[in-house]
Amino acid sequence: MTSQGQTPYGPPMSGAHLTIDLDALSANYRLLQTLSGASEVAPVVKADGYGMGAAQTARRLWAEGARTFYVARLTEGLALRMALGARTARILVFDGMSPGEAPVFEAHGLIPVLNSPQQIDLWLEARPGTREAALHIDTGMNRLGLSLAEASDLAANPERLRRLSPCLVISHLACAATPEHRLNRVQLERFSAVRSLFPAVSASLSSSAGIFLGPDYCFDQVRPGISLYGGGPHDRPDPRLAAVARLEAPILQIRDVPAGESIGYGAEQTAEKPLKVAIIAAGYADGYPRAASPRGSVWFDGAARRLLGRISMDLTAIDVTDAPGARLGDLVQILGPEISVDHVASAAGGSAYELLVRVGGRSERQWRGEARD
Ligand SMILES: *Cc1c(COP(=O)(O)O)cnc(C)c1O
Repeated sequence: MTSQGQTPYGPPMSGAHLTIDLDALSANYRLLQTLSGASEVAPVVKADGYGMGAAQTARRLWAEGARTFYVARLTEGLALRMALGARTARILVFDGMSPGEAPVFEAHGLIPVLNSPQQIDLWLEARPGTREAALHIDTGMNRLGLSLAEASDLAANPERLRRLSPCLVISHLACAATPEHRLNRVQLERFSAVRSLFPAVSASLSSSAGIFLGPDYCFDQVRPGISLYGGGPHDRPDPRLAAVARLEAPILQIRDVPAGESIGYGAEQTAEKPLKVAIIAAGYADGYPRAASPRGSVWFDGAARRLLGRISMDLTAIDVTDAPGARLGDLVQILGPEISVDHVASAAGGSAYELLVRVGGRSERQWRGEARD
């Protein structure tokens, strides 16, 4: 327990706050590197690094040896280029490009992931220099990417292919979080066939969960996001991954609630016996999902504590009947090493992805272990 709202890493804070452990991020990066053998690990830092700070996470991962990064949008690519300063990272943009954007990609050394014949046309028409582009081929997710027929057409047109000369061919697995799903093998086979169409080009199929499917899925490069940030590959906590996000909030009030009294909005929960209840300064405005109650729990004084009643906008009630040492200002862990993102996400019926992005977007953030130039 820490006293009086004093965080171990900085000044006192009155409400919920998020500490992002970049040492844990590095440990996860190294684990993924080990699991993916000789493949390049290219971190995905879209959506502000899943809420963990694209600038801070990418700079630390660069210090660990990462040289290729992915973002979703051109604007994210521009921000990351700025944040990385003189570091000569390759930055790929999943969305590819829209009309008029080619000069921006050029000027900032960003690499579009071209997703359709139309995007290829745009790139070939607009591209003044010899900048790189990657190709996304759809192998069964039916989201972004050239169809298999469009990929074959491109491969059958040596002149177009020569002008394009893609630096990388990627595809994306729809069901890697469910290892036994038959679509994994189907996509692997289709991707292997695609790869033979572009034999000289590097290939990348797997995000976090795909890496855990085994070496067959790793090809030349892997693109992990969620597992770098501590989310288990199969929507469950994985003990090998370290928690990156630590969301904590201080206790604002402690009260005795007699048996038969209800707690919180809607009087949804009634004390079955006399309870000691702590009110903590975190709620759904801090990204803590309202649906995490009643099944979720927090960590306090060495044990998981149940939530009581509904989570409100800025406040949550927890049961500290068995924690007689609880004091005002003590910090309660809402997410962190003891309460995994997968636990909270599943209690809320949501995903670790959404949880991290929400929490990261709304809480006051601090970083531990920042890379310095
Ligand atoms: C977001 C994304 C990733 C990273 O996925 P995780 O499941 O977070 O590891 C990789 N590739 C593509 C195409 C993506 O959109």
